[in-house]
Amino acid sequence: MISVIGAGPAGCHYASLAKDDVTIFEEHEKVGFPVQCTGILTGSIFRVLDDVPKDIIVSKIKTFRIIAPNKKQIDIDLDQPNLVVDRGKFDRFLMQKAIDNGAKILMGHRFLGYEEKGGKFIIKTNKGLFKSDMLVGADGPRSAVARAAGIYGEREFLQGLQARVYYKGEPGVSEVRLGLGEFAWVVPENERIARVGVIGKNVGADYKKLVGDCKIIENQHGIIPLYNPKQKLRKGNVFLIGDAATQVKATTYGGIIYGLLAGKMLAEDPENYEKNFNKKLGKDLWLSLQMREAMNNMSEKECDELIEVFRKHDNRKILEKYDRDFPSRFIVQLLLKEKSLWKLSFSALAKKFFKR
Ligand SMILES: Cc1cc2nc3c(=O)[nH]c(=O)nc-3n(C[C@H](O)[C@H](O)[C@H](O)COP(=O)(O)OP(=O)(O)OC[C@H]3O[C@@H](n4cnc5c(N)ncnc54)[C@H](O)[C@@H]3O)c2cc1C
Repeated sequence: MISVIGAGPAGCHYASLAKDDVTIFEEHEKVGFPVQCTGILTGSIFRVLDDVPKDIIVSKIKTFRIIAPNKKQIDIDLDQPNLVVDRGKFDRFLMQKAIDNGAKILMGHRFLGYEEKGGKFIIKTNKGLFKSDMLVGADGPRSAVARAAGIYGEREFLQGLQARVYYKGEPGVSEVRLGLGEFAWVVPENERIARVGVIGKNVGADYKKLVGDCKIIENQHGIIPLYNPKQKLRKGNVFLIGDAATQVKATTYGGIIYGLLAGKMLAEDPENYEKNFNKKLGKDLWLSLQMREAMNNMSEKECDELIEVFRKHDNRKILEKYDRDFPSRFIVQLLLKEKSLWKLSFSALAKKFFKR
């Protein structure tokens, strides 16, 4: 028997593909609740899922608008639209796939720790003890499984402050504001409601800077782990996937697609999961981290310069074509074409070096 801790996207997707008997332990009474996510997914979602039912899709994003501190902006017209999903329904859709694959779900079961006896795990929960042969930690950023196994590592977290608000946005156009927190966004659900948010280490939920005065419908705050390239993904028969393994891209702090990919890789080949994940996806997560560090060290003037670089027709076309989840596909092309990008990156990295 395999025990999965956490019925988020990573845990449920793993359980929908696993070949052995799986029991999922979820501390909440309802899957997909509370929502702490914008639910924006790039076209790469179809690399992992064949189908995303229509009733889960709230809106489609065709244009990614990047706005510099000096208000100059650039529209990236995405070759493949992004999906904005109802995150609660999305998680429950994945849960149903897990159930269809034979998984059992125990709601209201909080994982507290484990012991190993005679080659088996004795899992401790608030509702009793359970025997298991393998343990999968899909229990989010502060993973209790990672702690219990002694592979928590050094983790840094960011606050994700988000709300659904009444805001007249441009349907189909998602905005990213440079110079506000580490990442700030306005994602329209429709012509009346938007999901707005800021991610950073010390940011406030001051949405006025993003959308002016607006009425908040619902706050949806959460924490996000910073990708740690040294994070261990396995100890014996204990495995970590998703946020529990810090598998979040640092450019936009999206983690759903990486969590799903990790779940798929673990289900397909547990023995080589750690090696395969690091080989296939570690490079992109590492590049995202470097891009984030460079962006964090850019002055407002340099952010404005970056927009100018992206405004050039050929550069914009590259950004329109390639999905931001996997920067290795476009960053080399951009760097080869644009000397000014080297200058901006070196300047930002030099600032990081002298800060130490
Ligand atoms: C404000 C905000 C906006 C975001 N927007 C996006 C976005 O637009 N796109 C995107 O791709 N990503 C986004 N993210 C990140 C995304 O939400 C996560 O990367 C994703 O949810 C990770 O999935 P997961 O399955 O690894 O973990 P989670 O979704 O965190 O699921 C973990 C599950 O484990 C359960 N659990 C935890 N501890 C225990 C325990 N001890 N016992 C039992 N159960 C336990 C939890 O209840 C939860 O159900 C956002 C995050 C924030 C905070």
